Amino acid sequence: MTLYVNTSFPNGSPMNWEEQPDGCLTFAPLFDHERGTRNRQLTHWHFRLFGQKGIEITLRIPPMRNIYGDQVVNAFADRVASVISGDGVEWSTFFFHLQPDESLEARVTLPADEVTIARVHPYTIRDLDRLLSRHDTDPVFSVEEIGKSVEGRPLHMIRLSAGQAGLRAFFRGRAHPWEAGGNWFLEGLIREACEHPALLENLDIHILPMAAIDGVARGLTRFNVHGYDLNRGFTQPHAFSADTAPENLALIDWLEQRRRDDTLPHFAMDIHNDDHGNLHAGDLDRDPEFCRRITLMESLMRRDTWYTEGMKRGAGVATFGEGLRHLFGIDSVVHELNTNWLAGADRVPTASVWLEFGAQFLRMLPEFMRKAYGT
Ligand SMILES: [Zn+2]
Repeated sequence: MTLYVNTSFPNGSPMNWEEQPDGCLTFAPLFDHERGTRNRQLTHWHFRLFGQKGIEITLRIPPMRNIYGDQVVNAFADRVASVISGDGVEWSTFFFHLQPDESLEARVTLPADEVTIARVHPYTIRDLDRLLSRHDTDPVFSVEEIGKSVEGRPLHMIRLSAGQAGLRAFFRGRAHPWEAGGNWFLEGLIREACEHPALLENLDIHILPMAAIDGVARGLTRFNVHGYDLNRGFTQPHAFSADTAPENLALIDWLEQRRRDDTLPHFAMDIHNDDHGNLHAGDLDRDPEFCRRITLMESLMRRDTWYTEGMKRGAGVATFGEGLRHLFGIDSVVHELNTNWLAGADRVPTASVWLEFGAQFLRMLPEFMRKAYGT
């Protein structure tokens, strides 16, 4: 029996791998490193495994240590969800379990001779291109290019609008390349708006769906290809330049133009993935009106969506959430989607779950916007 691993495809994760004498596949995805700090992160894996349909094998990832803010931490939770597909269409979920030596292990049965295994149900640039083609058929859907990534890939801003509306919301996805769940969530939101344009009666929505598009292409975990974290640097003044993070500079320039046009979003949300699923609301205590609006949104999310995880206060001032509040006065939050378990849906989330979660959010959004920002 000889296994073979291929990672040479879009969003494939660079890694070392070895078939052990007992047939176990050991694989070690590469760390993604931040420039200017010791920070590094390993969360993404996405590879094709060639074996034999029906065989059961053990997958093992050796102990890995991430570094955040100079703190060295275990890269893995006790239980880490992953997905496998024999055809790229049907995906099933399984868990890696943390071992006493801090390695991760899982047992899987291969559903085909060639299978794809990934940390998160993949959402690639091809999926994005398919989404963007909606402008051919959906009258409420339009797209503009607001800039280019480090490697020259276009950064698309989607607009959902049934006409010029008084209330405005903005969403960003995939600030970190491994976090494909946010793309599925936003696609669910977009599909719902296109199918039910009455939801946009007094609401314009802009979406930057894939900020870290180079990292998505290259199968990275967290940083852009210059080593910058696109959810940091939202300081005053901001830390972005064409040489460091053109992805964020393009966003800032777009927001500056909207400030000049007096059409800044009232509300903004950055969609991420992690192992917890919280809403990061920032410094709610500093501003009672901001606190009232975000608390309202959280209660509506609890009522109408699968969100149950809870709100965290006091996110760092340099992140999207606090940053857009300070730079532009926009009510901004970061929403993490739990990658391992979506409690409200009682399952490991895959694409169909996140699509529905995003649709639920969109059905709730007009009520929140009207109550929070309506006149
Ligand atoms: Zn993230």
